[in-house]
Parts: sequence; C-alpha cells; structure tokens
Amino acid sequence: MVERTLSIIKPDATRRNICGKIIAMFETAGLRVVAQKRLHLSRSQAEQFYAVHKERPFFGELCDFMCSGPVVVQVLEGKDAINLNREIMGATNPVEAKPGTIRKELAVSFTENSVHGSDGPDTAREEIAFFFSGTEIVG
Ligand code: ADP
Ligand code: MG
Repeated sequence: MVERTLSIIKPDATRRNICGKIIAMFETAGLRVVAQKRLHLSRSQAEQFYAVHKERPFFGELCDFMCSGPVVVQVLEGKDAINLNREIMGATNPVEAKPGTIRKELAVSFTENSVHGSDGPDTAREEIAFFFSGTEIVG
C-alpha cells in the first residue's frame, strides 16, 4: 500500500551538510520526497513533537539537541513507506543499526542519530499534520 511518513533530518546532519546524502539513500530505496522544508525548531516545538517521551531520562537532552540547529522536515511517500523508512534509518542506537542504514553509516550518537521517522500510521498522520498543510504536500 502506498503510504506517507514524516521524516526529520536532525541537526547533527544539517550541521555536517549531509542532507543530500541522506535524501539519496531514501530515493535509492524507493521513497519519494513529496514535501520538504528547512526549519529551526523552538524548544517548545521540540517538546511538543516529542511529548510522548517526556517522562524518559533522555527527554531534556533530546529537546536541547533538536533545537540546537536547523532541521529538514519531509513527507516521504512510497509502498509501505512507514516501515521501509524505519528500515532505511536503522536501529535507534547506531551501535545496533545494520550496515548500510543511515544511522549505522552517518549517526554521531544515540541522541544525535541523524534522522527521525514516524513509527506507525497514526503517528505518521499526526506528525505530518504537525508540520505540513495539505497544499504543501505534492505527490
Ligand atoms: P526512534 O527515533 O528510533 O523512533 P525513539 O522514538 O525511541 O527512537 O526515541 C526518540 C529519539 O530520542 C531517538 O531517535 C534518539 O534521538 C533519542 N533517544 C532515544 N533513546 C535514547 C537513549 N536511551 N539515550 C539517548 N537518546 C535517546
Ligand atoms: Mg520514535
């Protein structure tokens, strides 16, 4: 089934100027960028986006990191896009990510792991709406 998922290229990757390399990995694997913009999140936007993690010990560090520099938010479209993107990204902890995945090849650390991807259909819908209006998504 053709799906859409929300992707974020995180500040560690924009800082190192490797957005193009990451986008090429999505495109090579069959995902299409159907919406994209570069933003600098506020602390409160980062807290709202990651609210599900607010009780976790890494929440403060994560929110500090996510507003430490620009991000590139994207809608990716393709067959089974949500799970396919999670495969392309690799495990959350780059040490555990498989060779060839974005996080294995490019991540800096557990927190600074280069990319975010929605984890299911409901979160994909909510996260896309967090950043994009319908007219900004052009398939
Ligand atoms: P994912 O991004 O793979 O969906 P989670 O939703 O569990 O992972 O966590 C959100 C983000 O929080 C991760 O991508 C990572 O940046 C950070 N994070 C998660 N767990 C840890 C941890 N144990 N230590 C440091 N940072 C973490
Ligand atoms: Mg997650």
